Amino acid sequence: MDASILNYTVNDNVAKFLKQTHKLYINGKWVDSKSGKTFDVEDPATGKKISTCAAGDKNDIDLAVSAARKCFDSGKWHSVPPNEKGKIIWKIAELIDDHTEELAQLESLDNGKPVAIAAGADVALSSDIFRYMAGWATKIEGETIPISVPYTPGAQYHSYTLREPVGVVGQIIPWNFPLLMAAWKLSVALAAGCTIVLKPAEQTPLSALRLTEIINNSNLLPEGVLNVVTGFGEDAGAPLAAHPHVDKVAFTGSTEVGKLITKASAGNLKKVSLELGGKSPTIIFPDADIDAAIAGAASAIFFNHGQCCCAGSRLMAHEKVFDQVAEGISKIASNIKVGPGMDTSSEMGPLVSDEQFKKVSGYIESGKSEGGEIIAGGKYDNSSGGHFVHPTVFAKTDKDMSIVKEEIFGPVLCAQPFSDQDLDKIAEVANNTTYGLAASVWSQNISTAHKLAAKIRAGTVWVNCHNIFDASLPFGGYKESGWGREMGHEVLKNYTELKAVTVNL
Ligand code: ADP
Repeated sequence: MDASILNYTVNDNVAKFLKQTHKLYINGKWVDSKSGKTFDVEDPATGKKISTCAAGDKNDIDLAVSAARKCFDSGKWHSVPPNEKGKIIWKIAELIDDHTEELAQLESLDNGKPVAIAAGADVALSSDIFRYMAGWATKIEGETIPISVPYTPGAQYHSYTLREPVGVVGQIIPWNFPLLMAAWKLSVALAAGCTIVLKPAEQTPLSALRLTEIINNSNLLPEGVLNVVTGFGEDAGAPLAAHPHVDKVAFTGSTEVGKLITKASAGNLKKVSLELGGKSPTIIFPDADIDAAIAGAASAIFFNHGQCCCAGSRLMAHEKVFDQVAEGISKIASNIKVGPGMDTSSEMGPLVSDEQFKKVSGYIESGKSEGGEIIAGGKYDNSSGGHFVHPTVFAKTDKDMSIVKEEIFGPVLCAQPFSDQDLDKIAEVANNTTYGLAASVWSQNISTAHKLAAKIRAGTVWVNCHNIFDASLPFGGYKESGWGREMGHEVLKNYTELKAVTVNL
């Protein structure tokens, strides 16, 4: 066992799991990649290797898709009675809960997030979405539709719709919430009766592999329903998105890769859903509960180290309260304890990778050179091998700076005052982004809050809160933040096809 892991007490299953060379999961079996290649998984708090995974490529994707295709076409999964499917999906939720400690530790070691957050948020939300989708397995219904058909006078018809599984789905997920993103995607696909090829992010494959192992050990799913191919985006993700026998691809990640996925999917016009980047505003009015707004705005950007697509990365505070808000957030930022996620005293862990460390620290430098004033943080340090960036607040930012326009995906807040009373003008600034994922509005005036919520072009608007997620709430973006919605009953539309059947009576 690597010494860095021994710095912390880890669950026995975690210790055992990390020692394995992880294989691909295809057609109900663990197999090596065809090329025999592997890649290292590192602990972002130390930069040291903690485990090894098979590096899948096009040949492995072909095998996985063929297993998923064969299983789908045989009807082995979608013909399972809905209540039985629901029980299986519910059982997965229970298994996740039963393995909370080890899944949280794996998530913390692999992604860097504080282990208590991994347990309380990532694992808890993961089991919750399986439970929510277990209920939907029995409620995917069509409708009967009275029709007229003016060109067949006197004829009588019985018309109805069937909602059927879309087929084989390729699911490509990111590294910021590795288990939760797997859960969002797998749970609905199973409820809808689809078969799956899942491609976890190369930075954080461990929790999805452990979940697969747990599901496999319980013999819950017929062979071929779930296939997991680890590997790099261009080697394993791209052929999955392009594969002619995949009916739908669901992707969560950067807008840049989302555009590549869209192009790759055009070959067979597979259905595409995308949950992409954001540059979400946090808008604070002078009549807000200012203490709550300060705490909420800080959490909006610093939760998960700013590695959230809906991070509140643009602070807009009214000039009357701007100094108080900026000072309050800066104080919180300065007091956040940054350290390894497995150290229970850490409140913020390292960024996920050296690549992200370079990207985020690069933005801090470009913000400084563009005239932004740092009022908290601004420090970054990888001297220990870990990718630590301290929570940072930039004041005096303006709309043309790259730190205000571009998604940083790190704990860096850009603050701007506003003086307008006119909600249209405030919305114009809030909407001045190519993204449209989320926003939060902080005001005690219900009229201000609701009117502004209607004017913001984003898939989620929170009022007097931020980062509130629930399995039943649809989540996704306007503009370049994506296509379609995850979660809620809305996501079922992405995983089903609608068939109209008409019977001449
Ligand atoms: P980030 O930029 O935040 O690292 P990405 O969008 O690059 O996120 O990655 C999200 C997921 O997309 C990962 O599983 C990654 O392997 C995958 N990916 C990256 N490039 C491609 C690609 N060209 N085609 C398909 N998947 C990709």
